[in-house]
Amino acid sequence: MRFWHGSAMGCGKVATLGSSRYFRIMSHALRHALVLFSGGQDSTTCLAWALDRYAHVETVAFDYGQRHHVELEARQNVLHAMRSTFPDWAARLGEDHVLDLGVIGQVGGTAMTQAREIVTQANGLPNTFVPGRNLMFLTVSAALGYRRGIDILVTGVCETDYSGYPDCRDDTMKSQQVTLGLGLDARITIDTPLMWIDKAATWQLAHDLGGDALVDVVIEHSHTCYLGDRTQRHDWGYGCGTCPACELRSSGWLQWTAERSLP
Ligand code: ZN
Repeated sequence: MRFWHGSAMGCGKVATLGSSRYFRIMSHALRHALVLFSGGQDSTTCLAWALDRYAHVETVAFDYGQRHHVELEARQNVLHAMRSTFPDWAARLGEDHVLDLGVIGQVGGTAMTQAREIVTQANGLPNTFVPGRNLMFLTVSAALGYRRGIDILVTGVCETDYSGYPDCRDDTMKSQQVTLGLGLDARITIDTPLMWIDKAATWQLAHDLGGDALVDVVIEHSHTCYLGDRTQRHDWGYGCGTCPACELRSSGWLQWTAERSLP
């Protein structure tokens, strides 16, 4: 399975088209983006996707009283590895921001911020669902971007391999893009490069963007495990291997590596 992906350098191919289309696409490549970057597999892939196509990319994460600070540490390691492994991307990678959204932890009641067993609730959603979290993340990200001249937000939400989180849906993203644009009186774009692909395809997308080197960065430095386990190293990276996040990541890896081995 292969995915087309554009790049800022590739824009020259349309130069022969002339007229406004050329300039519209060039200006797109010159835009600045803010990646919602948690340090997980998905947002690491989204960061590479943004670096591949935008002139300047900044990153943002939120400290909201997560049970494990491992992912906030992992993201620093991912950023360091990105800079040292991909010099072209390092030149485009700008400031990193970590903002305090402790109010989410104060609302409480989820397995993401409290030591609770991960279970499915009566409404069919797992108790890892933090109500309103992505909506808040995008609103605060848009505000940060507004202050910094950034009008593109990139997020790794996905409607394919997800747990039914309503704030990961494509319609939710499109609705919020319109709302933010109206509320800020500015053209805001929410890019969701993973929206319609599964975890196996996310591994492939990382490989398309940065080859084995980027896949290695994802394996060694990104963190997905809900339980914050960095002691067990698997082919697909670190994690407990049994929580829902680890299961998704490992099954995607197995599917991707099986597809790669096909003649
Ligand atoms: Zn796990």
